[in-house]
Amino acid sequence: MKERTPLVQQRPTGSVTPLNDARDRRIEWMPIQALIFDLDDTLMPEHPADEAALAATLRPFVESEEVTDELLAKLVWKASRDNWLASPFLEYTETVGTSSLEQLWAPVDRSTPELSGLSDWSITFRETVWRGVAADLGLDPDSTWQMMDMGFQQERGVRHFSYGDVIPTLEALRGSYPMGLLTNGIPKVQRHKATAAGLIDYFDLVIVSGDHVTRKPDPLLFELMLAGLNVAAANAVVIGDRLATDIAGANAAGIKSIQVRRPGNSHAGGDEATPDHVITNLTELAALLE
Ligand SMILES: [Mg+2]
Repeated sequence: MKERTPLVQQRPTGSVTPLNDARDRRIEWMPIQALIFDLDDTLMPEHPADEAALAATLRPFVESEEVTDELLAKLVWKASRDNWLASPFLEYTETVGTSSLEQLWAPVDRSTPELSGLSDWSITFRETVWRGVAADLGLDPDSTWQMMDMGFQQERGVRHFSYGDVIPTLEALRGSYPMGLLTNGIPKVQRHKATAAGLIDYFDLVIVSGDHVTRKPDPLLFELMLAGLNVAAANAVVIGDRLATDIAGANAAGIKSIQVRRPGNSHAGGDEATPDHVITNLTELAALLE
């Protein structure tokens, strides 16, 4: 493998240091030989795509301009979360790290008994949620819930796309570094999203937490990724948005980490873990690896 120049690192100060300051105080890392990426809100937007799809689904039913897209989205999030808490699969879905809203569009998956049961349960879940949303909007649930259900599946389905900086960056890095995708969630759902966004072929290895009935930050998943990419922890770097999962897991597995803190990402705050570096988009990553 081609020799790598060292990646730079910010000192662990406990607070975020701007990139330029960090580079002024560069510390040499071991040569980086492999990159491990998170998916949601690192490579492709999750929350914004959900909100846009919900607005597109419900807007035809709502004439008042006073009902904002944000309000429509909140209505569905609340309804889905409330019903989700009654799910017999709650423990499983929290173990692997998936969201209630995802089950409003997730493809049927019968690869395990748990997923098969979840797929069956979701049929009732979707009806209950959309009936509740219809009632909240003052509509007749009987004549509208199925249109909402089908509409959301269609609208969410056309919104699996990556951030604009992602494919140019992966294209530039491909061939120079083995790359892994390590994502929490249901295997079929996560692979579907990465495939639909045109990302899956950039990765030498894809690991979805649901395949192992655990979730990041469990270091087991990171260790499986290192073994699969045939690289030592000291020679890899994790790139992800969430401190509690991506960064804490990388730290626990002894892997360097870069947090991608995109503007508007409400999940990227907190103090659960300290990344070695912070960037705001992947264009900065390419510069770090030069
Ligand atoms: Mg993420």
